[in-house]
Amino acid sequence: MRNKLVAANWKMNGDFSALAAWVAVMKESVPEEGGAQVVFIPPYPYLRAAVDALCRTQIGVGAQDVSAHVSGAFTGEVSAGMLLECGCKYVLVGHSERRSMWSESDEIVAAKFEAATKVGLIPILCVGECLEERELGLTEKVVVGQLNGVLDRVGPTIFGAGVVAYEPIWAIGTGLTATPQQAQEVHGVIRSRLAACDDGLSEKTQILYGGSVKAGNATELFSMPDIDGGLVGGASLDAGEFAKIANAAL
Ligand code: 13P
Repeated sequence: MRNKLVAANWKMNGDFSALAAWVAVMKESVPEEGGAQVVFIPPYPYLRAAVDALCRTQIGVGAQDVSAHVSGAFTGEVSAGMLLECGCKYVLVGHSERRSMWSESDEIVAAKFEAATKVGLIPILCVGECLEERELGLTEKVVVGQLNGVLDRVGPTIFGAGVVAYEPIWAIGTGLTATPQQAQEVHGVIRSRLAACDDGLSEKTQILYGGSVKAGNATELFSMPDIDGGLVGGASLDAGEFAKIANAAL
Protein backbone atom coordinates (compact mmCIF):
# COMPACT_ATOMS: atom_id res chain seq x y z
CA MET A 1 0.00 0.00 0.00
CA ARG A 2 1.33 3.42 -0.93
CA ASN A 3 1.11 6.20 1.65
CA LYS A 4 -0.64 9.40 0.68
CA LEU A 5 1.43 12.56 0.25
CA VAL A 6 0.12 16.13 0.11
CA ALA A 7 2.46 19.00 -0.76
CA ALA A 8 1.99 22.76 -0.45
CA ASN A 9 3.78 24.60 -3.28
CA TRP A 10 3.77 28.26 -2.30
CA LYS A 11 5.41 29.26 -5.62
CA MET A 12 6.71 32.89 -5.31
CA ASN A 13 4.36 33.85 -2.48
CA GLY A 14 4.59 34.42 1.25
CA ASP A 15 6.86 36.06 3.80
CA PHE A 16 8.19 35.26 7.28
CA SER A 17 5.03 36.26 9.08
CA ALA A 18 2.81 34.24 6.71
CA LEU A 19 5.12 31.28 7.27
CA ALA A 20 4.85 31.51 11.07
CA ALA A 21 1.05 31.74 10.89
CA TRP A 22 0.86 28.82 8.44
CA VAL A 23 3.06 26.60 10.60
CA ALA A 24 1.02 27.39 13.72
CA VAL A 25 -2.23 26.33 12.03
CA MET A 26 -0.68 23.21 10.51
CA LYS A 27 0.79 22.09 13.84
CA GLU A 28 -2.69 22.19 15.34
CA SER A 29 -4.57 20.69 12.43
CA VAL A 30 -2.44 17.86 11.07
CA PRO A 31 -2.17 14.66 13.10
CA GLU A 32 1.30 13.83 14.40
CA GLU A 33 1.01 10.32 13.09
CA GLY A 34 -1.35 8.26 11.01
CA GLY A 35 -2.12 11.01 8.51
CA ALA A 36 -0.77 11.68 5.05
CA GLN A 37 2.86 12.73 4.61
CA VAL A 38 2.70 16.52 4.39
CA VAL A 39 5.39 18.54 2.59
CA PHE A 40 5.82 22.32 2.72
CA ILE A 41 7.49 23.89 -0.32
CA PRO A 42 8.10 27.64 0.25
CA PRO A 43 10.52 29.87 -1.73
CA TYR A 44 14.27 29.39 -1.06
CA PRO A 45 14.76 32.21 1.49
CA TYR A 46 12.19 30.63 3.83
CA LEU A 47 13.42 27.03 3.70
CA ARG A 48 15.63 27.17 6.78
CA ALA A 49 12.97 28.92 8.86
CA ALA A 50 10.45 26.30 7.71
CA VAL A 51 12.78 23.44 8.67
CA ASP A 52 13.36 24.95 12.12
CA ALA A 53 9.68 25.68 12.73
CA LEU A 54 8.61 22.17 11.68
CA CYS A 55 11.46 20.20 13.25
CA ARG A 56 9.36 18.35 15.79
CA THR A 57 6.49 17.58 13.43
CA GLN A 58 5.98 15.01 10.70
CA ILE A 59 5.77 17.79 8.08
CA GLY A 60 8.71 17.67 5.68
CA VAL A 61 10.18 20.60 3.76
CA GLY A 62 10.95 20.77 0.06
CA ALA A 63 12.35 23.26 -2.47
CA GLN A 64 10.73 24.40 -5.71
CA ASP A 65 13.73 23.74 -7.94
CA VAL A 66 17.34 22.55 -7.85
CA SER A 67 20.42 22.96 -9.99
CA ALA A 68 21.60 20.05 -12.12
CA HIS A 69 25.16 21.03 -11.13
CA VAL A 70 27.02 20.12 -7.96
CA SER A 71 28.89 23.43 -7.47
CA GLY A 72 30.73 26.11 -9.41
CA ALA A 73 30.16 29.29 -11.39
CA PHE A 74 26.37 29.08 -11.75
CA THR A 75 25.14 32.40 -10.40
CA GLY A 76 21.66 32.18 -8.93
CA GLU A 77 21.56 28.38 -8.83
CA VAL A 78 21.12 26.28 -5.67
CA SER A 79 22.58 22.77 -5.49
CA ALA A 80 20.96 19.61 -4.16
CA GLY A 81 23.66 19.36 -1.50
CA MET A 82 22.81 22.85 -0.24
CA LEU A 83 19.13 21.98 -0.02
CA LEU A 84 19.94 18.82 1.89
CA GLU A 85 22.20 20.70 4.29
CA CYS A 86 19.40 23.19 4.79
CA GLY A 87 17.15 20.36 5.98
CA CYS A 88 15.08 19.73 2.86
CA LYS A 89 13.79 16.25 2.09
CA TYR A 90 11.98 16.92 -1.19
CA VAL A 91 12.41 19.03 -4.32
CA LEU A 92 10.14 19.76 -7.28
CA VAL A 93 11.63 19.15 -10.71
CA GLY A 94 10.11 19.98 -14.08
CA HIS A 95 7.21 22.08 -12.81
CA SER A 96 5.31 23.34 -15.85
CA GLU A 97 6.15 26.95 -14.90
CA ARG A 98 9.87 26.07 -15.05
CA ARG A 99 9.43 24.13 -18.29
CA SER A 100 7.56 26.96 -20.01
CA MET A 101 9.09 30.15 -18.54
CA TRP A 102 12.66 28.87 -18.20
CA SER A 103 12.60 26.52 -21.20
CA GLU A 104 13.58 23.49 -19.13
CA SER A 105 13.94 20.51 -21.45
CA ASP A 106 13.42 16.85 -20.49
CA GLU A 107 17.20 16.55 -20.51
CA ILE A 108 17.59 19.31 -17.91
CA VAL A 109 14.72 17.92 -15.83
CA ALA A 110 16.32 14.46 -15.86
CA ALA A 111 19.67 15.94 -14.78
CA LYS A 112 17.97 17.78 -11.90
CA PHE A 113 16.11 14.61 -10.90
CA GLU A 114 19.38 12.68 -10.80
CA ALA A 115 21.23 15.46 -8.95
CA ALA A 116 18.54 15.37 -6.25
CA THR A 117 18.62 11.59 -5.80
CA LYS A 118 22.43 11.58 -5.64
CA VAL A 119 22.34 13.41 -2.31
CA GLY A 120 19.24 11.61 -1.01
CA LEU A 121 16.60 14.25 -1.76
CA ILE A 122 13.27 12.95 -3.06
CA PRO A 123 12.47 14.61 -6.40
CA ILE A 124 8.82 15.24 -7.26
CA LEU A 125 8.72 15.08 -11.06
CA CYS A 126 5.92 17.21 -12.54
CA VAL A 127 4.36 16.26 -15.87
CA GLY A 128 1.26 17.48 -17.67
CA GLU A 129 -0.29 18.62 -20.93
CA CYS A 130 -1.58 22.05 -21.96
CA LEU A 131 -5.18 22.64 -23.09
CA GLU A 132 -4.34 22.59 -26.79
CA GLU A 133 -2.59 19.24 -26.41
CA ARG A 134 -5.58 17.80 -24.53
CA GLU A 135 -7.99 19.04 -27.18
CA LEU A 136 -5.86 17.47 -29.90
CA GLY A 137 -5.97 14.13 -28.06
CA LEU A 138 -2.25 14.30 -27.24
CA THR A 139 -2.47 14.03 -23.44
CA GLU A 140 -1.09 10.50 -23.18
CA LYS A 141 1.67 11.18 -25.71
CA VAL A 142 2.81 14.36 -23.91
CA VAL A 143 2.66 12.91 -20.40
CA VAL A 144 4.36 9.62 -21.30
CA GLY A 145 6.93 11.58 -23.31
CA GLN A 146 7.82 13.70 -20.26
CA LEU A 147 7.92 10.60 -18.09
CA ASN A 148 10.17 8.79 -20.57
CA GLY A 149 12.34 11.90 -20.78
CA VAL A 150 13.44 11.17 -17.22
CA LEU A 151 12.90 7.41 -16.85
CA ASP A 152 14.87 6.51 -19.97
CA ARG A 153 17.76 8.76 -18.91
CA VAL A 154 18.06 7.85 -15.23
CA GLY A 155 16.78 4.23 -15.29
CA PRO A 156 14.24 2.53 -13.00
CA THR A 157 16.41 2.35 -9.87
CA ILE A 158 17.04 6.09 -9.66
CA PHE A 159 13.50 6.86 -10.86
CA GLY A 160 12.15 4.75 -8.00
CA ALA A 161 13.61 7.21 -5.49
CA GLY A 162 11.19 9.89 -6.67
CA VAL A 163 7.53 10.84 -6.79
CA VAL A 164 5.48 11.81 -9.86
CA ALA A 165 2.98 14.68 -9.97
CA TYR A 166 0.45 14.91 -12.80
CA GLU A 167 -0.42 18.57 -13.22
CA PRO A 168 -2.50 19.37 -16.32
CA ILE A 169 -1.43 22.91 -17.24
CA TRP A 170 -5.00 23.95 -18.07
CA ALA A 171 -5.97 23.18 -14.45
CA ILE A 172 -3.13 25.09 -12.76
CA GLY A 173 -4.30 28.29 -11.10
CA THR A 174 -7.42 28.37 -13.29
CA GLY A 175 -10.02 26.94 -10.93
CA LEU A 176 -10.64 24.30 -13.62
CA THR A 177 -9.89 21.03 -11.84
CA ALA A 178 -9.60 17.81 -13.81
CA THR A 179 -12.52 15.58 -12.84
CA PRO A 180 -11.52 12.62 -10.67
CA GLN A 181 -12.16 10.40 -13.72
CA GLN A 182 -10.00 12.54 -16.03
CA ALA A 183 -7.19 12.58 -13.48
CA GLN A 184 -7.50 8.84 -12.75
CA GLU A 185 -7.29 8.07 -16.47
CA VAL A 186 -3.94 9.83 -16.79
CA HIS A 187 -2.64 8.45 -13.48
CA GLY A 188 -3.52 4.98 -14.81
CA VAL A 189 -1.53 5.68 -17.97
CA ILE A 190 1.46 6.80 -15.89
CA ARG A 191 1.26 3.70 -13.71
CA SER A 192 1.02 1.43 -16.77
CA ARG A 193 4.10 3.07 -18.24
CA LEU A 194 5.97 2.40 -14.99
CA ALA A 195 4.68 -1.19 -14.93
CA ALA A 196 6.01 -1.72 -18.45
CA CYS A 197 9.41 -0.88 -16.99
CA ASP A 198 9.14 -2.72 -13.68
CA ASP A 199 6.15 -3.97 -11.65
CA GLY A 200 7.72 -2.99 -8.34
CA LEU A 201 8.32 0.54 -9.62
CA SER A 202 4.69 0.88 -10.65
CA GLU A 203 3.37 -0.37 -7.32
CA LYS A 204 5.55 1.77 -5.10
CA THR A 205 5.66 5.09 -6.98
CA GLN A 206 3.40 7.75 -5.50
CA ILE A 207 1.55 9.72 -8.20
CA LEU A 208 0.11 13.04 -7.03
CA TYR A 209 -2.51 15.16 -8.76
CA GLY A 210 -2.07 18.94 -9.02
CA GLY A 211 -4.25 21.64 -10.57
CA SER A 212 -6.81 23.66 -8.60
CA VAL A 213 -7.02 21.14 -5.74
CA LYS A 214 -9.24 22.56 -2.98
CA ALA A 215 -10.85 21.27 0.21
CA GLY A 216 -14.05 20.82 -1.78
CA ASN A 217 -12.63 18.45 -4.40
CA ALA A 218 -9.74 16.77 -2.55
CA THR A 219 -11.63 13.85 -1.00
CA GLU A 220 -13.05 12.71 -4.33
CA LEU A 221 -9.74 13.10 -6.16
CA PHE A 222 -7.75 11.29 -3.47
CA SER A 223 -10.21 8.39 -3.41
CA MET A 224 -9.27 7.34 -6.96
CA PRO A 225 -7.15 4.18 -7.03
CA ASP A 226 -4.07 5.68 -8.69
CA ILE A 227 -4.14 9.13 -7.05
CA ASP A 228 -1.79 9.06 -4.06
CA GLY A 229 -2.26 12.63 -2.89
CA GLY A 230 -1.91 16.16 -4.21
CA LEU A 231 0.44 18.98 -5.16
CA VAL A 232 -1.39 22.12 -4.15
CA GLY A 233 -0.63 25.68 -5.26
CA GLY A 234 -3.09 28.52 -4.58
CA ALA A 235 -5.15 26.72 -1.94
CA SER A 236 -2.02 25.89 0.07
CA LEU A 237 -1.47 29.56 0.95
CA ASP A 238 -4.48 29.36 3.25
CA ALA A 239 -3.38 27.07 6.09
CA GLY A 240 -6.94 26.22 7.15
CA GLU A 241 -7.87 25.20 3.60
CA PHE A 242 -4.64 23.27 3.11
CA ALA A 243 -5.07 21.43 6.43
CA LYS A 244 -8.48 20.25 5.20
CA ILE A 245 -6.88 19.03 1.96
CA ALA A 246 -4.12 17.23 3.87
CA ASN A 247 -6.67 15.61 6.16
CA ALA A 248 -8.73 14.50 3.14
CA ALA A 249 -5.84 12.23 2.16
CA LEU A 250 -6.16 9.46 4.69
P1 13P B 1 -2.91 25.47 -8.21
O1 13P B 1 -3.28 24.56 -7.07
O2 13P B 1 -2.86 26.92 -7.83
O3 13P B 1 -3.75 25.19 -9.42
O4 13P B 1 -1.39 25.11 -8.62
C1 13P B 1 -1.04 23.80 -8.84
C2 13P B 1 0.45 23.75 -8.95
O5 13P B 1 1.03 24.21 -9.90
C3 13P B 1 1.17 23.13 -7.82
O6 13P B 1 2.50 22.89 -8.16
